[in-house]
Amino acid sequence: MTHVNVHPLVSPWGRFGLYSFFIDAPQPAIVDTGIASSPTEGMAPALEAVGRRIEDVRWILLTHGHIDHVGGAHALWELTGRRAQVVIHQADAPMLRSRRAHVDEYLHGRARYLNDPEGEAKVTAAANAVISGEMEPTMLLKGGETLSLGGGVTVSVHAVPGHTPGSVAYVIDGQRSVFVGDAVQVHGAANGFPGYMDPAAYRASLRYLRDEIRPRHLYLGHPYRRADGMPYGVELDADQAREALQGSLDIEAGVGEAACRCLQDGLRETNSPYSPFAPVAERLGYTGDPTLEPSPFFTSMHGYRTHFDQNS
Ligand SMILES: [Zn+2]
Ligand SMILES: [Zn+2]
Repeated sequence: MTHVNVHPLVSPWGRFGLYSFFIDAPQPAIVDTGIASSPTEGMAPALEAVGRRIEDVRWILLTHGHIDHVGGAHALWELTGRRAQVVIHQADAPMLRSRRAHVDEYLHGRARYLNDPEGEAKVTAAANAVISGEMEPTMLLKGGETLSLGGGVTVSVHAVPGHTPGSVAYVIDGQRSVFVGDAVQVHGAANGFPGYMDPAAYRASLRYLRDEIRPRHLYLGHPYRRADGMPYGVELDADQAREALQGSLDIEAGVGEAACRCLQDGLRETNSPYSPFAPVAERLGYTGDPTLEPSPFFTSMHGYRTHFDQNS
């Protein structure tokens, strides 16, 4: 089988770099869609530069439901004349169907620790600005599917929950090119802290990627950082992929230990911005602003708390 080329498509968004990827198959695919403006402002010119047309895209493969990944989906779908399949895991599909789902996720998780009276209004405004349109996906995934992109090119779908319940990895079969979105956090992106809703699932997914998928080319959703703050590039080779996966596991182990200790000691409100998880930030030496969206610190801490409450 011939090697399928992958072209990174980069959209800047505030403090974040958003990565989407063009899979140059007979039925071309784009993995993740950035925000509302990304398809016209970022993707179309980048594709033109490599001699491809955005209207020819036939697959829109979403790694998960966060706004910086599904935000451009409706706009991109429109640019394809609504001919592209729009694909997402069923557990994250509500985030494509409704802007309000993003507000609800905020309110049920990190909002509980932020004490921001404007928080709901801010997240509502962000969802309105960043999501190009609400839509029903044309294909719902569970994990285990194989998608045919023509000419013998297939992409297999693997459920890798943890960052969100419906996170998936897309793998170009035969060349182990793997797109994971935000399922491999290392030290996190702009906030300097890894974010995951379900720590146990996150851990299991990282092991699965490391031991079963074994990427030869790994594509992350953002320039995630190593321990020394150096971000990974847009494409990781096999050695870098292994390092990023192992690094993510090691970091989660440290965060988990600190979170467990704090939960066992009992949560107490403090004046710290990390309240009531101030001992975790202290133990880890984390000095980032925990209130900056998407608040990975509180998202992950809430995940440990939920797990702790269920098991005690
Ligand atoms: Zn995400
Ligand atoms: Zn993201």
